[in-house]
Amino acid sequence: MKIFVLNAGSSSLKYQLIDPLTKDILAVGICERIGIDGSFLSHKTRDKQIKIEQAFPTHKDAIDLVLKSLTSGEAKVIDSVNEIDAIGHRVVHGGEYFDKSVLVNDKVIEQIEELLPLAPLHNPANLMGIKVVQELMPGKPNVAVFDTAFHQTMPPKTFLYATPYEDYEDFKLRKYGFHGTSHYYVSNEAIKMLGNKKESKVIVCHLGNGSSICAVKNGKSIDTSMGLTPLEGLVMGTRSGDIDPAAIEYLMQKKGFDIGEAINYLNKKSGLLGVSGVSSDLREILEASDAGNKRAKDAIDLVSTRLKKYICAYAGVLGGVDAICFTAGIGENANIIREKTCEELEFLGVEFCKNKNDKRSSEAREISSSKSKTKVFVIPTNEEFVIAHDTYNLIK
Ligand code: AMP
Repeated sequence: MKIFVLNAGSSSLKYQLIDPLTKDILAVGICERIGIDGSFLSHKTRDKQIKIEQAFPTHKDAIDLVLKSLTSGEAKVIDSVNEIDAIGHRVVHGGEYFDKSVLVNDKVIEQIEELLPLAPLHNPANLMGIKVVQELMPGKPNVAVFDTAFHQTMPPKTFLYATPYEDYEDFKLRKYGFHGTSHYYVSNEAIKMLGNKKESKVIVCHLGNGSSICAVKNGKSIDTSMGLTPLEGLVMGTRSGDIDPAAIEYLMQKKGFDIGEAINYLNKKSGLLGVSGVSSDLREILEASDAGNKRAKDAIDLVSTRLKKYICAYAGVLGGVDAICFTAGIGENANIIREKTCEELEFLGVEFCKNKNDKRSSEAREISSSKSKTKVFVIPTNEEFVIAHDTYNLIK
């Protein structure tokens, strides 16, 4: 069984060829700078890594090159695209239409098209990926896996915004949440690590370039920090997260922004990058902070404190917490962020173990003491595996 997992962005395209039954990754790669000068493909198999510098003006050219690299040349892993059983597509926004992954048909495409105004930065590229694959691999089943689907179990008391109710009824203005595939995978692994506890209360902190936190009760999302768009919530690489909406008007006056420029500023120039003035990459900020850069230190404190506030709020929403989980680039690797976030959480039953936290590992592991009432776990996320697995389940 071979599933081609595709994550099509506006100017890049990530892919994996996975056997969902063995979790075996046959190939993984990325096309960067689609439609821009200097485009290239990085393609990796178990024992080969290649880089092809070639112009690909469109997503179709890029996917065409990926399929060629999978089936020919020095890093080929299959003889023909016929060996691919199905394609799993990451789709960012599924609105209220999709609470689980679906086989793509004309109606699904229409519904994703209807959702374009809710995710103008992401869904158009995801949809383009689906359409190009339908053209290049006719007859193969395509499955759409939505970032929002896992959060469709949130109740109105956590998904509503407190504007007039008609805004929800007429325009579907509400919190949707993102990173659902990761929150699902990590919470599921955490429940296993809790010995398949029947009634479980888990908090997942997905901390990468984009970050969000999710309260998971008995395996279901009941609250999450991202909202109508991925801008809400935690402090991220370049996104501000929560901010007083009136601050936007103030910024517009002071900086002469129109509304589009102001939102772009909060999405692309803020967060770790804006506060530190160093980078959006935490590794560089940690280095700068160690060298005495105050803004870098403030950025680190701000990220951890915002996260701590959300953890405490979600413990309240859940009515307790069995496990706090860290995942994604920062969550899996940045021991200092985990330590700062968990400082003074003893009142929540957390007995943090600095020794375990400081040990590097790529395995899922506990970083609280063995006596800790509330467990703290680091669990590497695996969104591609969930996409491959959902795709397999829908085609089998
Ligand atoms: P992601 O979006 O999940 O790839 O995560 C990207 C973020 O993870 C960036 O801010 C990186 O700086 C951060 N990151 C990756 N590796 C490390 C590391 N070893 N230590 C600290 N931060 C890291």
